[in-house]
Amino acid sequence: MANVAFIGLGNMGGPMAINLVKAGHQVAVFDLSETAVAHVVEQGATTHASAAECVKDAELIISMLPAGKHVEGLYLSEQGLIHHIGQGALVIDSSTIDANTARKVAAGLAEKGIDFIDAPVSGGVGGAQAGTLSFMVGGSAEHFEKAKPVLDNMGKNIFHAGDHGAGQVAKACNNMLLSVLMVGTSEALQLGIANGLDPKVLSEIMSQSSGSNWTLDVYNPCPGIMENVPSSNDYQGGFMVDLMAKDLGLAMDTAVSSQSSTPMGALARSLYAMHATAGNGGKDFSSIFNLFSKQEN
Ligand code: NAD
Repeated sequence: MANVAFIGLGNMGGPMAINLVKAGHQVAVFDLSETAVAHVVEQGATTHASAAECVKDAELIISMLPAGKHVEGLYLSEQGLIHHIGQGALVIDSSTIDANTARKVAAGLAEKGIDFIDAPVSGGVGGAQAGTLSFMVGGSAEHFEKAKPVLDNMGKNIFHAGDHGAGQVAKACNNMLLSVLMVGTSEALQLGIANGLDPKVLSEIMSQSSGSNWTLDVYNPCPGIMENVPSSNDYQGGFMVDLMAKDLGLAMDTAVSSQSSTPMGALARSLYAMHATAGNGGKDFSSIFNLFSKQEN
């Protein structure tokens, strides 16, 4: 069992840290929110007055923060953890951030003999609670192998995508594709509805035909076709429009830095930004279905 420090105990980090406690690790936790800390401490974690004290004796340091500026600030700033983490410790950043910041943090920590992998996740809050997340890891094979037993306690599929930043690139590619599939599925279903088709029948036809895809088959965006999906619960729960818009921004940054052409991703980013601005940021990302409705929403 490992000595782990876990920083960032929000919707994702909280349940991930609790799964490490349940697996028997010694887990020292920190968050700017005292409520978030108290919830994880109740489950058997310890805490200290600062993140710096939490990481002092840790072999593994895991962070789950909102964005790249928080990750860079946590590790590389003047008061950053770089001055407190012991040599030979491994930092695992599971936040969804841009690949260049992940590489910058990796290089900064390496100067002090501290190892790093980027390990963003897919699977949402449900996956974090159930311990079934997918991890996409960027870093050396040696550090991937070192992290894997602990990632196994929080996830089901652990992938080694490549060197530093590769985990973040894989995450950006996946979520860009997911958004394109969701937009395409939504407009196809609305086209059928506008022409008199029953969306349930159309869904079955496309699911058994070449239009089959994950958003149609297991996450149908049209209310009332499937039980236990956000569209049948007024688009509550699931994966928020705001987070999809954030991830698409990261995918576009990645495309710009490699001068890649991603026209479908660019359109999806624009549509999700518009949908968020219209007041839907807190709804599940399948609510983009309503954008194509011919009825008043
Ligand atoms: P969240 O806002 O619920 O949690 C972030 C936590 O970080 C908060 O509790 C905040 O207080 C804490 N924090 C911020 N700066 C800190 C600092 N300097 N020191 C200590 N704590 C600090 O966010 P979340 O939903 O848990 O998402 C975390 C990351 O996971 C994001 O990068 C997000 O894009 C990614 N992600 C989220 C989901 C999802 O469905 N929520 C799915 C996959 C990936």
